[in-house]
Amino acid sequence: MKIYVTRKIPQKGIDKLVAKGHEVDVSQKDGVLTREEFLAALKQKPYDAVLCLLTDKIDKEVFEVVPTAKIFANYAVGFDNINLNDAKEKGVMITNTPGVLTETVAEHTFALMLAIAHRISEADRFTKAGKFQGWGPMMLLGNDVSHKTLGIIGLGRIGSRVAYHAVKGFDMKVLYYDVKRDENFEKEYGAEFKSVEEVLRGSDFVSIHVPLLPETRHLINTERLKMMKPSAYLINTSRGPIVDEATLVEALKNKTIKGAALDVFENEPALAPGLTELDNVILTPHIASATEETRSKMSEMAAENIIAALEGKTPPNIVKIN
Ligand code: NAD
Repeated sequence: MKIYVTRKIPQKGIDKLVAKGHEVDVSQKDGVLTREEFLAALKQKPYDAVLCLLTDKIDKEVFEVVPTAKIFANYAVGFDNINLNDAKEKGVMITNTPGVLTETVAEHTFALMLAIAHRISEADRFTKAGKFQGWGPMMLLGNDVSHKTLGIIGLGRIGSRVAYHAVKGFDMKVLYYDVKRDENFEKEYGAEFKSVEEVLRGSDFVSIHVPLLPETRHLINTERLKMMKPSAYLINTSRGPIVDEATLVEALKNKTIKGAALDVFENEPALAPGLTELDNVILTPHIASATEETRSKMSEMAAENIIAALEGKTPPNIVKIN
């Protein structure tokens, strides 16, 4: 069968598809396909499946351009780039890659938390600029992470793994908010279930791990930033639009909060005006799952979903559409 892959991905997944005898076309563009390029690519052949990315907007128009495709396998755990109602209407299966990236994203979250608290980026720029004139008792003072309070918003796979590292590795206290309460987790890790407001008011670090949904868009806004301690840091490795980015820039400028570390942005790849000029922010370009190990597993997982769908089976990671 014919499969279109919208960007070069680690070879393991492609090999799996080829080993099953499928014909695989991979976009040769070194970058994100524009909408026009994407639609034109899908018109090349009557594709049976599409392996797509979070940068591809998938909606009715796309499904109509390639009506032969039974499945769109998203190369991500999040699927906010896909209009699920349109997929349901067109009878197209949607799959994602949950679980395989949990550890990596949790590690990246901790890397950001430690980096902003210990001013790693600032210190790196300072040292490389030749400004290091000798040890100084007041030079580049940061904050400890250990023994502080971490607020988790969204205690799912990634959020709970971040909480695990916080408790086990850094003796932190964990407060969390989620639409579902997890009493077993609370017992095991001494975590406390709170409202969003209580999490924001009580935490030294707040880390966001909810999916992007209509109800989580701008979950962090002006009012909620004001609830945070002036000494607190905000970490976002989830999805950019969950934070009102322009408001965050203001809060960082005004020292409403002490700092932020972001892997995701509201209008990627664009950044809110003023964000890059701030010293109290660390920015990474949506790479929280970007390790060789994890990206390879994601490619295999996406391929397995396609293989199952094309064999008439229910793919292991099908997204349930209500
Ligand atoms: P998950 O589904 O296991 O966890 C999400 C949690 O959020 C669940 O516990 C759910 O109950 C909770 N939740 C849902 N709606 C909520 C709401 N309105 N208020 C409060 N809690 C709510 O997902 P996961 O695997 O932990 O991934 C979380 C998100 O991280 C993904 O949706 C994705 O957007 C993002 N992500 C980003 C990267 C990256 O590269 N930066 C990589 C992987 C995942």
